[in-house]
Amino acid sequence: MSRPVQFNIHPILADTKDSIGMANMPAGYTGEGFFATKLNDVVGLARKNSIWPLPFATSCCGIEFMATMASHYDLARFGAERLGFSPRQCDLLMVMGTIAKKMGPIVKQVYLQMAEPRWVIAVGACACSGGIFDTYSVLQGIDQVVPVDVYVPGCPPRPEAILDGFIKIQDLVGQESLRRRSSEKYKGLLESYGIQ
Ligand code: SF4
Repeated sequence: MSRPVQFNIHPILADTKDSIGMANMPAGYTGEGFFATKLNDVVGLARKNSIWPLPFATSCCGIEFMATMASHYDLARFGAERLGFSPRQCDLLMVMGTIAKKMGPIVKQVYLQMAEPRWVIAVGACACSGGIFDTYSVLQGIDQVVPVDVYVPGCPPRPEAILDGFIKIQDLVGQESLRRRSSEKYKGLLESYGIQ
């Protein structure tokens, strides 16, 4: 007679009642049978909870990002389940690791291939400022080649810091006006990087 197999000696019934996160409703007006709000807020809500990151990992910080994606920290909880390796389908460039000067044009090319709206996080001291590599061959911060929205310091930053940077990006995305990308200020920013 086979023995019953039990993996958990003291099974605990999971209480999932409060464990499902719901996005907060944007501010607006409610009445009987209707809810009215701004288009900006609705689009921002959808965008911030469905970010598709493109991990551009060149060294050790990339390993921290792998931990951030894995089950314990689980970036998917923030709606960023789907990592993309095709720039045309992604809207968040995450640069993680030391970027040699010869890689600078590649980072810029990847950025240019992404469709608007797009955002950029510099993860770790190397991507933010060159880190400990104050040498002739290392780019002293990716903001020399592309505009950066959020900087995550640390060598390496812990997954909590990467998540914090990601939440800051979500705040930016959620509040960004639909018209920002066609504003003169934004065009001026891109022009300062030689981007039309
Ligand atoms: S910041 Fe530190 S951990 Fe990250 S890529 Fe540079 S040397 Fe490696």
